[in-house]
Amino acid sequence: MNTASAPDRCPRCGAGFACGAAGPGACACSTLTLSAALQAQLRQQFDGCLCLPCLQLLAQAERDATGATA
Ligand SMILES: [Zn+2]
Repeated sequence: MNTASAPDRCPRCGAGFACGAAGPGACACSTLTLSAALQAQLRQQFDGCLCLPCLQLLAQAERDATGATA
């Protein structure tokens, strides 16, 4: 029984996390503001959700990248 109820695992850092899509609560990514471009990039790079720390890191990195030039 190794395929029963396997927890979500972040494809970026390998940390275990709970995606809201599979749980009772809201998904962690719904609390973040991810741009459409970033979401598209993540879908291309990774298969599935990332953990909250990774999403926060990527969202902030994009903000820094786009905000610093203006
Ligand atoms: Zn992660």
